Amino acid sequence: MNKDITYDQVHTKEKQELLKIKMNEVAELIHKKYSLTEKVHTCPVCLSKKINFYVNKFGFNMDRCDDCNHIFTNPFPSEDALNFYYNSDLKKFENKFFEDSFEERIPIFTKRIEIINKLIGEGTILDVGSSIGIFIEGLKRNHTKLEIVACDLNIESCEKLKQKYKDIKVIHGDVLKIEETKKFEIITLWDTFEHIVSPKELLEKILNLLKPNGVFIFSTPNTASYEWKIMNKEHIQLLPPGHVNLYNKDNIKLLATRHKFNVLDVLTLNASLDLTYVKKEIDLIVSKNEINEQLSNFINYQQALLENPLIFDSIASYLIGQREAGNMVVILQK
Ligand SMILES: [Zn+2]
Repeated sequence: MNKDITYDQVHTKEKQELLKIKMNEVAELIHKKYSLTEKVHTCPVCLSKKINFYVNKFGFNMDRCDDCNHIFTNPFPSEDALNFYYNSDLKKFENKFFEDSFEERIPIFTKRIEIINKLIGEGTILDVGSSIGIFIEGLKRNHTKLEIVACDLNIESCEKLKQKYKDIKVIHGDVLKIEETKKFEIITLWDTFEHIVSPKELLEKILNLLKPNGVFIFSTPNTASYEWKIMNKEHIQLLPPGHVNLYNKDNIKLLATRHKFNVLDVLTLNASLDLTYVKKEIDLIVSKNEINEQLSNFINYQQALLENPLIFDSIASYLIGQREAGNMVVILQK
């Protein structure tokens, strides 16, 4: 069922090979040019004081909260550092990688669009951070009745969206600056929440942009998941200064309710990505021959089990049922 969405399909070979190199280059420049901001001593989500060092990636320290398991860059990068980062070559690299995996990424949205259709049949949708329009293409292919407004900070992405979709409205700019004269039935934000230093401002703005009972749906990594439990400090998404806040399926509810949203559901829909990602990484460890024979046999057998589509699908279903896959779709209502 979900096996058609695999890690290798959505992350192109070029991306997998170059990401760390590109990240190191840009991180080195940031550390030279910009000084650090002040470290925080309270968890940004649950306000606990029990903060401990977790890992250092690309020269940025990441801490973890003992109480809610929130993982965050501490200190957070400065606004100047982030401006530099998002206007660096890395952004072009990312856009190219999205272009290259455009078709493969559309199925990621299939279930999300089903959910949207069930919740909101008609009205206007505001999609924040549309990038090159993979989600919008998904909506179009599902013959959506929703009127679409797209919003993105990147001018090139906006121009492309305007050319490709004549019947949608495109706003070039920051969602925080959108006028609140028009309100929306639904607002979406895909794989962006982890990039936001202060979610408070964004959540308040979204609340103001929604009609009464309006729905806000977003996706972000879920660190209380199969892939995170196994990969832990080696997880590919430990990517500061881009990823600054890494939530989990429990603490995200706390954050949402504190900002006056009702939590309708937190779903994890793409477990096949967890399984194919972990399998790939474990294959790599086994191939290095650094483990003893019994452990190696055990892993090989587990890997062979995962090759069986029946077993693959049942584990994927289990993870989806338990909400333990690595990307969560959070459904909130005003
Ligand atoms: Zn916490």
